[in-house]
Order: sequence, then C-alpha cells, then structure tokens
Amino acid sequence: MALRQLTVLGATGSVGTSTLDVVRQHPDRYCIYALTAHSQIDQLFTLCQEFRPKLAIVSTAKDAAKLQTQLRASAISTEVSYGPQALIHVASADDVDIVVAAIVGAAGLPATLAAAQTGKRILLANKEALVMSGQLFMQAAKNSGAELLPIDSEHNAIFQCLPAHAPYYSKDIEEITLTASGGPFRTRSAEYLETVTPEQACAHPNWVMGRKISVDSATMMNKGFEVIEAHWLFSVPAQRIAVVIHPQSIVHSMVAYTDGSVLAQLGNPDMRTPIAHALAYPERLTTSVRRLNLTQYGKLEFEALDPARFPCLSLAFDALREGGGAAVLLNAANEIAVSAFLNRQIRFTAIAKILYQTLLHTSTQTPESLDAILALDQEARIKATDIVRQHQYEMCD
Ligand code: NAD
Ligand code: MG
Repeated sequence: MALRQLTVLGATGSVGTSTLDVVRQHPDRYCIYALTAHSQIDQLFTLCQEFRPKLAIVSTAKDAAKLQTQLRASAISTEVSYGPQALIHVASADDVDIVVAAIVGAAGLPATLAAAQTGKRILLANKEALVMSGQLFMQAAKNSGAELLPIDSEHNAIFQCLPAHAPYYSKDIEEITLTASGGPFRTRSAEYLETVTPEQACAHPNWVMGRKISVDSATMMNKGFEVIEAHWLFSVPAQRIAVVIHPQSIVHSMVAYTDGSVLAQLGNPDMRTPIAHALAYPERLTTSVRRLNLTQYGKLEFEALDPARFPCLSLAFDALREGGGAAVLLNAANEIAVSAFLNRQIRFTAIAKILYQTLLHTSTQTPESLDAILALDQEARIKATDIVRQHQYEMCD
C-alpha cells in the first residue's frame, strides 16, 4: 500500500504530539508532508529531524529564517515557510492525503477550510473552526468529497456509534449525549470559583491538554463548543443534544436511537485512540494506549450539570439556537476572555460575563464567506477587549 502523506497543523501541541506518536508506530503506512507550529521552533526542529517533512511552517519570517538555518546546518532538506498562506498551502497541496487540524482557535480556520475545499481526509480537533464556520465548512466538505473524521473524543465516539452504512445519517437518532468530565471545578462552590487561578483551571483531572482548551473545560465552554460541533457534524438540532457529567471520562459519548437502544464508546482517556481510529478508518491501528479494565473503576458515575455555576454551556445553546453570527461572536469573545484570564487580568468568573455581554451585540446576519466570518471575528474581538477592560477595573477595586 502506498504511504499516505500527512500534514499536521499544530504539530507541537497536545493533539499534534499524540498524532505523531501514533504515526511513529506505523512508518509503513504514513509519512509526513508538512508540520506546522506557531513559535515553538526548537520543538519543531526536533520533529523535523525525526520525521523529515517536505515543509515546515511557522508564524513569522524571523522564526522561519532561524529554523531554516538550523535545518541546513544539520543537512536536513525540509523547506521552511511562514504565515497563513503557507498554512493554507500545506493543507491543500495535491500530494497531501490527510490533514490533522490541531491548531487551537480561530487561527486554524483558513487552513482547515482549505483542506475541506480540496477533498482531503480531515482529522478535526480544531473545534473552534467548525463553531465559527459550520455551514460553510460542511458544505465545502460535501462539495469536494472531503472525509471529515472528528478526533475530539466525544465526536469520535459518536461517529463510532453511528450506523456504519450511513454515517452522518440522523433520521433514526433520538438524542446524542455528550459526556463531560466536569473539569477541575466540578464539585466547587460558586464562591470558590471567584478566586481560582490559571494553574488550578489548567489542572484537568483526566486529560493533559493545551492551556486554552483546559480553561474551556473548567468553564464548560468546551462542552458548549462541542454541542455546536455535534450539531454541524451530525446534522442534529440543539434540542436533541444533551450533556451529562461523567467524572471518570471512560464513556466518551452516547447515541440513543428511536428503538430505545443506546450505543456508547468506551476507553481510557487518551487522544491516541480517536486519532488512530480516524487515521486508518475503516481499518483499525494498534496503539500503545493503556487498556481499559472496568473492574479497576468498579463504578462509573453520571450526574446533571449545574447551569448556575457553569453558565457557558447555556450560552453555547443560546448561540446555536440564535444562529447567524452568534457562534462567531461567542468564540472570539471566549478567546479574548480566556487569554485575559490566563494573563491574570480578569477573574475566572468574569469569562462567562464577558461572553454574555459580547453576545448582546449579535448581528442576526449569517456571515456566508470566510472573509465575512473573519471580519465578524475581528469586530467581536474588539468589543470583547473593551468589555475585558471593564472587568479588569472590577478586579482592581
Ligand atoms: P495546544 O495549545 O497544545 O497546541 C496548539 C497548536 O497550535 C500548537 O502546535 C501551536 O504552535 C499551534 N498554534 C497556536 N496558535 C497558533 C497560531 N496563531 N497560528 C498557527 N499555529 C498556532 O492545543 P491542543 O490542546 O493540542 O488543542 C488543539 C485543538 O484541538 C484545539 O482546537 C482544541 O480545542 C482541540 N482539542 C484538543 C484536545 C486535547 O486533548 N488537547 C482534545 C479535543 C480537541
Ligand atoms: Mg472533547
């Protein structure tokens, strides 16, 4: 079988690292066409030494020159380029079979959309891209014949529970239930949440992830984005998507059918399982993921989520029902608010307030092109930055 060529967008991140670990175990099936990173030049250099990609992409000209010099000095022939156009190029080049979309946030949208427009197999981790551009993205994938395989663990679980003969076919689905670990603050009081630090918010009980998604998991915004993601991926309306807290993160999500059957996918929480599934689908790869032994757990728990302590989930449902550009505003405001929290400018509990206040500015107009989405994203970032300032003053009081 010919080697399949991969572009890993966000190769130095948590999902990128897990992806390369799976690829490393299967050199007879996969090779790397391109690796990309924002600014982690040393890490990218080490990855280039190991995987010898044709291209490596970074964000600035200065970093590109530095990395190119390092590679030449080591007689590695990888060519270095930089910036958004270079990301689009490596996501859509003819030689590429599979694109792993693992850049965090809106920065990943143009390249992920380019992969959808050019008929690639896309391993989608970058949920923000789909939250921002759902309709446009799904239509582009349909038009080009791109194979969209979710690697967000919940959506990968749902995909695995859908009928193999008709994935993405929702007529017989009564409800999709996304499981949520509850994050580091599941049992904490509203008062406690007022004073939590970025370190506490990033200490996820079950998953080791990038800082932004870790904060999103602590606020439950991550689950909110996953509701929007599930809506677009599986054509299921908001009222048929439920969320349940499952602290052990063993049941990754469930699909309930009209005959009363409920199908779930289980496994230890390790991103290498959904990544391996999506890389080889419909075949299965071997991984070194720790095997699930249910007797070690004894019991699995499920509980309802408290909307008063975790208002971000309701905001996501509201944005989905509202449609138009609401999800774009929600995502942009969240990126600004989470970054302000990580920089210790605002309280953890201000994040939801900033999202709510930004959403008040919703334009009902649906942005129908990438340019329109990016313009609305910029507008929302400016509004959210203003609102962050008000909450900064509150913190100084
Ligand atoms: P991370 O912060 O660990 O890695 C992000 C990657 O994106 C890095 O390689 C970084 O260099 C790159 N990047 C960041 N900003 C960039 C920019 N402006 N331009 C170009 N590249 C940029 O994040 P992660 O935890 O790996 O998450 C990546 C995506 O996958 C997110 O959308 C997240 O929601 C999703 N996801 C992650 C997990 C997980 O277990 N980590 C699970 C499900 C979904
Ligand atoms: Mg997830």
